[in-house]
Amino acid sequence: MNDKTLPRVVIVGAGFGGLNAAKTLEKAPVQITVIDRKNFHTFQPLLYQVATAGLSPGEIAAPIRSIFRSRRNVEVLLADVTGFDLERKLVETAEQNFSYDYLIVAAGASHAYFGHDEWEPLAPGLKTIEDAIEIRRRVLLSFELAERQAAAGDTSSALTFAVVGGGPTGVELAGTLAEICRHALTHEFRSIDPARAHIMLIEGGPRILATYPEDLSRSAQEQLQHLGVEVRTSTMVTCVAPGAVYIGDTRLPACVVLWAAGVAASPLGQKLGAAVDRAGRVQVQPDLSLPDHREVFVIGDLASLKDEHGKMLPGVAPVAIQQGRFVAKLIRKEVESRASGNVASRPTFHYWDKGSLATIGRSAAVAEIGKVHISGFLAWLSWLFVHIWFLIGFQNRLLVFIRWAFSYFTYERGARLITGSDSLPGWTDHSSSSTSTSSPGAPSATTAVEAQEIHTSASK
Ligand SMILES: Cc1cc2nc3c(=O)[nH]c(=O)nc-3n(C[C@H](O)[C@H](O)[C@H](O)COP(=O)(O)OP(=O)(O)OC[C@H]3O[C@@H](n4cnc5c(N)ncnc54)[C@H](O)[C@@H]3O)c2cc1C
Repeated sequence: MNDKTLPRVVIVGAGFGGLNAAKTLEKAPVQITVIDRKNFHTFQPLLYQVATAGLSPGEIAAPIRSIFRSRRNVEVLLADVTGFDLERKLVETAEQNFSYDYLIVAAGASHAYFGHDEWEPLAPGLKTIEDAIEIRRRVLLSFELAERQAAAGDTSSALTFAVVGGGPTGVELAGTLAEICRHALTHEFRSIDPARAHIMLIEGGPRILATYPEDLSRSAQEQLQHLGVEVRTSTMVTCVAPGAVYIGDTRLPACVVLWAAGVAASPLGQKLGAAVDRAGRVQVQPDLSLPDHREVFVIGDLASLKDEHGKMLPGVAPVAIQQGRFVAKLIRKEVESRASGNVASRPTFHYWDKGSLATIGRSAAVAEIGKVHISGFLAWLSWLFVHIWFLIGFQNRLLVFIRWAFSYFTYERGARLITGSDSLPGWTDHSSSSTSTSSPGAPSATTAVEAQEIHTSASK
């Protein structure tokens, strides 16, 4: 029951970190307030499936309120946290402030455009359900626009997709786009051939999946190339323009540009008054608290902490989950020992790295589990079961499993809804405008890269 005399723990953010902190605390002698600006928890590892029309948004999200339905000491509030008053122990929102005895800040991260926020409308990143729906809109719309244009007799437009950033998100987006073009859409258009679309994965560093061992990076690149993706490493995007990316002076036309290149911590980190690293992550103590405020903890993607070997903990779900559980246990122990008159000393957080998995496409993935490196179908199968297992809610797990099994055999991608606007940055419909001068399909420059472009054809 909600006993107002018990210490109050306020948790900001119901992502992997916040959710696990609240769940671990639910039987502790505390009152818990979970505040999130969304009323649902998002399973981010499957966002790319929504972005590529494989899953519907509801299948990878769960209402926060329903997760805590039977936990009487957990209160869930929909609010956008704007700041903190650490001296008065208050969490601030535009409407009201919330007091706490313990505060856990788990507000996560977003994408970063390296000081070029003007690129965001041209090259959406993938962090939220809204981002995924927007990417899905652009990808599906590009096929529709190309088909309409080709049906009117203009086959000059190229369907080129550029994914910027060769980390796990860029790799899974590029691989799945290739799959859609080569398989899911093949028999559905009459004037264009989706299989001739060109997918580029552009990575600034010397190899994709840079945090993985070299052999797995190589294998991932080969698996992508096998799917028909052009992988360009050591290639720095210097500008994003409507319908194109630039590599130095070279313009690469692209009807859809997707951004998977940078991560920045939530701006809430800066509001805590503690030191932050270059990505805006809060530098926490080994117990994940703030140096001058032992009652305030920062966890997950928003926290900056090195492991015992001096290596920065990665921004992945298992780190956030383990940190959420760790802080919850610490608070519980402290509250209980205070009640019995003892003051417990604090433990240090240790991350248990169970391995890394990155998917590339159907039956294609890489996995690093300790010293064991796996590629291909076995890695993909492990990835599949881990991700379905950790989805929130039995119904979601069952639905996703059935959906996956079905699409594995049929190549079907059932969530192909185009919602919202019907325009694409940089796209000019030649069939409806005779005055246009440029489009992603009608590049003005004639670089070697542009000459390689695969144009949609009326050959079908
Ligand atoms: C596309 C993508 C794919 C990924 N794939 C994998 C993967 O395969 N494996 C893996 O381990 N990790 C993966 N990750 C990383 C993983 O999702 C993150 O490390 C993890 O979500 C971090 O958890 P968190 O609790 O710190 O933050 P999040 O899960 O991001 O949660 C933050 C929460 O805070 C809320 N919030 C933010 N600001 C405010 C505010 N001002 N007021 C109120 N609420 C706020 C948000 O709404 C959100 O619910 C992926 C991430 C992305 C984006």
